[in-house]
Amino acid sequence: MDHLMNVYKRVPVSFERGEGVWLMDPAGDRYLDALSGVAVCNLGHAHPAVTEAIQQQAAKLIHTSNLYHITNQELLAERLCRLTGLAKAFFCNSGMEAVETALKLIRLYGHQKGIELPQVVVMQGAFHGRSFATIAAGGSAKAQGGFQPLMPGFIRIPYNDIPALKNIAQTHSNIAAVLVEPVQGESGIQVPDQNYLNEIRTICHQQEWLMAIDEVQTGLGRTGTLYAYQANAILPDILMTAKALANGVPIGACLATEAVASLFTAGSHGSTFGGNPLATAAALATLQAIEQDKLWENAAKQGAALLTGLQARLKDHPHIKAIRGKGLMIGIELDRHCRDIILTGLKRRLLFTVSHETVIRLLPPLIIQAEHVQQIIDTLSLIIDEFTVHP
Ligand SMILES: *Cc1c(COP(=O)(O)O)cnc(C)c1O
Repeated sequence: MDHLMNVYKRVPVSFERGEGVWLMDPAGDRYLDALSGVAVCNLGHAHPAVTEAIQQQAAKLIHTSNLYHITNQELLAERLCRLTGLAKAFFCNSGMEAVETALKLIRLYGHQKGIELPQVVVMQGAFHGRSFATIAAGGSAKAQGGFQPLMPGFIRIPYNDIPALKNIAQTHSNIAAVLVEPVQGESGIQVPDQNYLNEIRTICHQQEWLMAIDEVQTGLGRTGTLYAYQANAILPDILMTAKALANGVPIGACLATEAVASLFTAGSHGSTFGGNPLATAAALATLQAIEQDKLWENAAKQGAALLTGLQARLKDHPHIKAIRGKGLMIGIELDRHCRDIILTGLKRRLLFTVSHETVIRLLPPLIIQAEHVQQIIDTLSLIIDEFTVHP
């Protein structure tokens, strides 16, 4: 600990082993994981098919660089394109890099249209990562604090506000794209109106702006469809995916239509590790498992049960302001700062986090079953009572 840079407020526990929805500490105590490593281990821990794919690939070949063809990478691109309706993929190692890739494509698109200083419309409360470009795109003053000068090229409007988007279309002629999350996770689980993405799609078509959707957190089944935009029956021009793509092995991808992807030429962009044989083997096994069991359906079903169960149990609770979510992305907003409720949760062996100071954030693995849902409802009610009586 003494030799780690101080950028995380860590919860005082470590884990030695995981199995499905459970994490085990060194003493052998078992915790119900309702966070999934922040929406990463969607298949739960130590998923046998992913473990086997990693083991087999590691024994054969881990890395060769993108100087050579990588069969697994080509297979993964083909699979993601089939699943999303997009045409081309670029692989990197994290969500933030996927967003950086998208922003580069957007700049190229803007310049191609003759816009000298292309701007990207971004949202209040947005989170897109921790690089200079992505903190500038994000809406958190805390994430930007001390890191000025911020990268220029962003215009911010409120989330879920179509009139605001129409308004800036009238006042700005240098916009190249809109970058949006289907549900905002980091800012406390903000679920927009059902037609929000459809309306953005229409405006982007009319204005000839690109629509870029950040599904780093919402993707891979989390909100009840494989990608959240698929519930809206639209197709974005650019899609970013990462977190759960290889169930914990670092990987990210930026997907795009043929027209947008063709803005890149050899040498425009790249990554040393991006899409290496190991990460793409893990991702192929992860996608296979998600598809085979149609896990987005379980996310929709268990997510609805969890949301209605929490609402039924807690709706009259004097310290709860709202309970909201989509699929297995659920937030419970308290009337006070509640970071320390994580510690009350730890005592009761339930793992979750807190966003935006006041929102308990649940992101359980997509494999959870009715008994786990019930356990989360029962335990969390107890935890909230304990915390609000003796904070
Ligand atoms: C987590 C997240 C990112 C950043 O991903 P990293 O892998 O941490 O770089 C970007 N966008 C969204 C919506 C996220 O939830």
